[in-house]
Amino acid sequence: MKNQLSRRKFVTSAMGAGTGALIFPQLSSLTLQREGSPVRPIIITSHSNETGKLAMDAGWEVLKAGGNAADAVEKAANVIEADPEDTSVGYGGLPNEHGVVQLDASFMDGKTYSAGAVACLENIKTPSSVAKLVMQRTDHVLLVGAGALEFARVWGFREENLLTEKARKIWLRWKEELSPDDDWGSPEHLQNIRKKESYYRDFPDIEHHYGTTNVLAIDANGDIAGCTTTSGLSFKLNGRVGDSPIIGAGLYVDNEVGAAGATGRGEDVIKSCASYYIVLRMKEGIAPQKACEEALRMIIDRYRKINSDFYPSEKFVAINRFGEYGCASMTGKRNPQMSVMSSNGFLRHEGIVAYSGRP
Ligand code: ASP
Repeated sequence: MKNQLSRRKFVTSAMGAGTGALIFPQLSSLTLQREGSPVRPIIITSHSNETGKLAMDAGWEVLKAGGNAADAVEKAANVIEADPEDTSVGYGGLPNEHGVVQLDASFMDGKTYSAGAVACLENIKTPSSVAKLVMQRTDHVLLVGAGALEFARVWGFREENLLTEKARKIWLRWKEELSPDDDWGSPEHLQNIRKKESYYRDFPDIEHHYGTTNVLAIDANGDIAGCTTTSGLSFKLNGRVGDSPIIGAGLYVDNEVGAAGATGRGEDVIKSCASYYIVLRMKEGIAPQKACEEALRMIIDRYRKINSDFYPSEKFVAINRFGEYGCASMTGKRNPQMSVMSSNGFLRHEGIVAYSGRP
């Protein structure tokens, strides 16, 4: 299946303030219309590896059986969170500066605009499920640290060590290389001859400084839900919270429009409310692909004025209520990819690298 935009007539009409004014007070309201029926149910994730495919299979099982979008999103996110090889999400995620894995996740329901999130959650493999319970079973949006863990325990989540051997070794190498002046390091490091080939053989690159997953779904009723889950910036300061659990930054969902999620440097995403911005742009009638690109443009326009050497790492994915989707990233040697599952089958969709401008 191709993104449906080309097959459908894209009509937008300005109607002045009114519908949706409570949610989007600053925009005049616009009506999105399409010819033909929407593609639903459908589920997408920013993950494009084999685990992303397995996650889509799991979410699709729920949707195919008539299940709701939130349950499908949770099932899919749990698959990615449980992958020990994935050093950016859940179990096996890279730890903070002290070697402790602290997870962030958010969940949002586009029908009720309810949301739940956890930040700096330790020892629980599936933070997205805890975030979903915060959304469904509390009157709050965000629980952090010890409070989030206590909440998870009350709901029967099992505590376990999330630091895999792979993640521990990567962390240890980071710690040893952090400074030539501290007391940590291999003999080579300590003698300041660190470029020796042997030192780099086992871990030639510490690649995953960022990494997260977004899962967004529309069920057969047209209800939309989304989740963003991550181990966050690797080696972050203890207690650092990224964009993933911040509603409007790492995730936003609105049944009347669609949903968007972010990965990449959370600090940029928080300051630009990027997911909310993408949904606002889609409400204006802009296609998801274009809306993702425009969010990148918005961030670049702001921060390159201050720092001309600003080359951020964000990647956005979005879907509108018609089942059209897109993704864009700001850096990368190859175009960003995402996974998509609908009654048309599974596909890996390729977005574009936008506004990089890197020489
Ligand atoms: N956005 C995440 C964070 O800043 C990391 C990532 O997506 O790469 O915590």
